[in-house]
Amino acid sequence: MIKFLDLQKINLAYQQEIEEKLLQVFRSGWYLLGNEVKNFEASLATYIGSPNAIGVANGLDALRLIFRAYLELGQMKVGDEVIVPANTYIASLLAITDNRLKPVFAEPEIGNYNLDIAKLEALITPKTKAIMVVHLYGQICWSEELEAVAKKYNLKIIEDNAQAIGAEWNRIKSGNLGDAAGFSFYPGKNLGALGDGGAVTCKDPILAKIIRSLANYGSQEKYVHEFQGLNSRLDEIQAAVLDVKLKYIDTDTGKRREIAEKYIAGITNPKIILPNLPAASKEHVWHLFVIRIDKRDELQQYLTENGIQTLIHYPIPPHKQKAYKYYNHLTFPITEKIHNEVLSLPISPFMEEEEVQKVIELINNY
Ligand SMILES: *Cc1c(COP(=O)(O)O)cnc(C)c1O
Repeated sequence: MIKFLDLQKINLAYQQEIEEKLLQVFRSGWYLLGNEVKNFEASLATYIGSPNAIGVANGLDALRLIFRAYLELGQMKVGDEVIVPANTYIASLLAITDNRLKPVFAEPEIGNYNLDIAKLEALITPKTKAIMVVHLYGQICWSEELEAVAKKYNLKIIEDNAQAIGAEWNRIKSGNLGDAAGFSFYPGKNLGALGDGGAVTCKDPILAKIIRSLANYGSQEKYVHEFQGLNSRLDEIQAAVLDVKLKYIDTDTGKRREIAEKYIAGITNPKIILPNLPAASKEHVWHLFVIRIDKRDELQQYLTENGIQTLIHYPIPPHKQKAYKYYNHLTFPITEKIHNEVLSLPISPFMEEEEVQKVIELINNY
């Protein structure tokens, strides 16, 4: 069987280095708020080119904490509006609504599944404070037009960078394009921990300080609490593992790009809509390779029967989830079409050439 993502294989590629680190942390007796997190934060900040990186417990918390910090700073207040793509994972929405901010849904472009920047300005009201861009499936969502709109209306740009670590726009890495960005190190992400993990990068040092404090009980000095914070920390073990894996992220991304290019060149079945190659190859890190087809479930079943595991990212859009009953009446035709038609093919840095060829062949014979 060809797995959608063989995490065991991915992590065993770095077995020796990771095991040494794990043993070192285990023996050190220091498991939280220590040097491993400091080192990883420094490595991540350098890699992204951002002046600040803060390790947190997961990707959702990274995004939640960014908005929470803006509220604490008085730069946003309860009820303010945040523009967010309707076509995203629910975490993007949860970060907004958890802070009692109001999401304003934006339709994606059908060509790249990301927020349609041309339609952004029409959604702006006097209450709009921020735009959340999601670099969905690993593809950069950014343009000069976006920068101009944000500047014109004095809006913050928050990046949901959970899927796109290492992507670049004009030599600037995702996570350093906007005002602040949330990263996820969920095991299946391109940089995956051995459990949950996340990080925030941001430009403003004051914002960084507040986020760091909020993630640690609202405290910068032990037993002194300036905010009603959370407990959302990256632990030493995860940080140590991530610091090892970060060194290889560009090599891994290169392998993902090769597979994506092979799929695009090799899949010729006219029933399939392939993703477009981005204007520059660095704009996509191919966290997911997502195709579209009219009768998606039938193709998925055919591939399953032939030993190929696929997934759907995502089957139900956030505004149609029970969790958001009060948005269920809204309709976003492009978003809903995408949710009905997408299918994610296996892709990972350690997928074998014959596996790639088998996927291509089976899809072409469908
Ligand atoms: C994975 C993901 C998140 C949340 O990350 P967790 O670490 O699972 O909390 C947020 N946004 C997007 C787009 C994601 O893919």
